[in-house]
Amino acid sequence: MDIVWKIVNFIILFGALYLICRKMNLFDKMFGSRRRGISEDIQSSENAVRQAQELGADIEKANELNEKRKEELMQGAAKQAEVSRAAIAASGEEEAKAIIQNAEKSEEQLMEEMRSRVSANAVRQVAAITGQVLRNGSFESSKQALNDRFIEQIKELVSAMPSDILNMNELKKLDISIKSAEPLSEEEMNRLTQIICETFISCRNEVDSELIGGVRMQVGDTVYDGTLAHTLDRLSMDVENNTRQSDKEMQSIAEGIKQQLEKVSGDIDVFQTGEVITLGDGICRVSGLADVMAGEMLEFEGGLKGMVQDLEKDNVGVVLLGPYSHIQEGDSVRRTGRIIEVPVGESMIGRVVDAMGNPIDGKGPIKNEGFRPVESPAPSVLSRKPVSVPMQTGLKAIDALVPIGRGQRELIIGDRQTGKTAIALDAIINQKDTGVICIYVAIGQKESTIAGVVDKLRSFGAMDYTIVVAAPASSPAPMLYIAPYAGAAMGEYFMYKGRDVLIIYDDLSKQAAAYRELSLLLQRPPGREAYPGDVFYLHSRLLERAARLSDEAGGGSMTALPIIETQAGDISAYIPTNVISITDGQIFLESDLFHSGVRPAINVGLSVSRVGGAAQIGAMKQVAGRLRVDLAQYRELASFAQFGSDLDKSTRYTLHRGVRMTEILKQGQYAPMNAADQVIEIFAASEGYTDDLEPEDITRFGAELVDYVNRTYPELRGEILSGKKMSAEQQAKLRECIESFKKTFG
Ligand code: ATP
Ligand code: MG
Repeated sequence: MDIVWKIVNFIILFGALYLICRKMNLFDKMFGSRRRGISEDIQSSENAVRQAQELGADIEKANELNEKRKEELMQGAAKQAEVSRAAIAASGEEEAKAIIQNAEKSEEQLMEEMRSRVSANAVRQVAAITGQVLRNGSFESSKQALNDRFIEQIKELVSAMPSDILNMNELKKLDISIKSAEPLSEEEMNRLTQIICETFISCRNEVDSELIGGVRMQVGDTVYDGTLAHTLDRLSMDVENNTRQSDKEMQSIAEGIKQQLEKVSGDIDVFQTGEVITLGDGICRVSGLADVMAGEMLEFEGGLKGMVQDLEKDNVGVVLLGPYSHIQEGDSVRRTGRIIEVPVGESMIGRVVDAMGNPIDGKGPIKNEGFRPVESPAPSVLSRKPVSVPMQTGLKAIDALVPIGRGQRELIIGDRQTGKTAIALDAIINQKDTGVICIYVAIGQKESTIAGVVDKLRSFGAMDYTIVVAAPASSPAPMLYIAPYAGAAMGEYFMYKGRDVLIIYDDLSKQAAAYRELSLLLQRPPGREAYPGDVFYLHSRLLERAARLSDEAGGGSMTALPIIETQAGDISAYIPTNVISITDGQIFLESDLFHSGVRPAINVGLSVSRVGGAAQIGAMKQVAGRLRVDLAQYRELASFAQFGSDLDKSTRYTLHRGVRMTEILKQGQYAPMNAADQVIEIFAASEGYTDDLEPEDITRFGAELVDYVNRTYPELRGEILSGKKMSAEQQAKLRECIESFKKTFG
């Protein structure tokens, strides 16, 4: 009962509490905020779920879009690919059509194209594309014909070269390899082996589809190439070298291309090959080439030429004549069987060419008449004749005191910037209208200097009869070494045709330095001043080629004016003494004279001409005798006179006269004088007509006198130029003329 009571009480209490709380809104206060919070949370989570659902839908949509886009793109790309495939096919077709069109072009058109370098490239491309087309095309029957033809021809051609015999003696065997575009049939192999087996033992056939068609056989170093790939390669190279081709040859190339495209056949090309084993500084060593000759021209990849310098037991030393950066060890080298040569002919005149005879003046290819080897023997003693015709330089100091004859070798020697080149250029300018052909070989000079010289010559109209051979300082040493020989070869062409040539080597010191460089690189033992032992031969074989030919040998002449630069006037150095001993005299230029205003700065004491006297015109010989004596005495006394003031009368007179004589020999640059005018001036000075003039007036006096005499006594010029001595009457008449001029001179 007690428990029931307790329960009733508890219920009553609970009910009262509930009523109070409700009355005070306590429940709501206690749980309302929590409930709201929960419902807000539910709300936001519901929102989040909705958003997530939306996002999912969005992603799905985007995916769908992407998928669609991808499909579109794929379709587009496929379409594009289709289009480009079609385009490529079309262009391929066009290319093929272009090839055929090109092939069908007339010779004239093809030649027109070849005239410029651009079209040469185009033709080369055509050759390359043709190769491609032929590779893909079906020429089975032609290929078979090539094989048959090769086997047919090889019978006549194959032979054991000296090197092969040497190899067989030493190694007791010789490698023979046969390459062909497709495997040779058993019968073909049998026929080939039959031909060669008697002499050569091992023989194998390699297949190389790159050859396109035909067979290539290598016996030792000698290659017998009858493949189409090779023919095309040679063809492209020929076209590339079209700058050196004459019209006729170009025509034959054009013909060749046409023929190639029309029918697939070709002759077997027989040549020997070697392999580059070391390379550096314009020099390389080549193995193989066992039968190569010294001085032979070799062909490297890309048409680069090389010249064989050293023949050793198992390799040869080669100098590279041109840019060689594309050459690598292992490259193959081809023999040409020809000594290195340059183009020669009338069309070279007026052109600027490099040491290999390639034009570098941008005036297009030269239609040369032929080629001459750069190294050729000098005319023999029997085919020479004494020097007797003057080679007028137009410079008073030279024509009077160190006269040069046609066929002579006269050295111009002096320090740098003493007017060496100036003398040579004046000599060239003075050859105008004389029929003499001039060759100016610029060795190791700055390109700008050479351009300046060419400009000067052109402005005086001297390029009409001049060839400039330029081997600028920037070209490789072998080019500097070879340039004078190239110039000599061009000159010889005219000399052997009976023409007169004047050749200037400016300058040989630089050639010697270039030769020293390449000799050291070839590891030849250095001698005096590190020059190789044969540096004398370097210059002697060059200068001996200058000669005056006997009438039987052609009657022409080549006069050489080599230039040598000295260091501080030291003419006893190695190269200067060499060249002095080779030449027939020297014109010695001095810095001191040059700077004291005596120009041309010729030291008349040290300058001599050993043979030119015989070639001097009579009148000049007459007046020059006195001049020489006066100047010699003056030179002797001039050094003493600097110390003493008490000079006797005759000494004072000699000095006085010497000053005026020196003055009359001064001459400006690019103003060569006629021989008759020179005689008039020197005559006046040596007869004492200038003694009472001030030194500074003498140049003007000379110029005005010449004018006056030519006006009042015009026949004198012809008389002097006839080469005879002046008669007493002529002299008297000239004196009379000078006297009457002096009255007016003031
Ligand atoms: P390098 O050693 O540089 O080859 P170089 O000895 O050949 O010099 P040039 O270039 O001929 O000398 O001449 C040097 C300078 O002297 C040139 O500026 C030239 O114009 C000037 N010159 C030469 N001869 C004469 C002259 N007769 N009268 C006036 N100036 C001259
Ligand atoms: Mg010079």
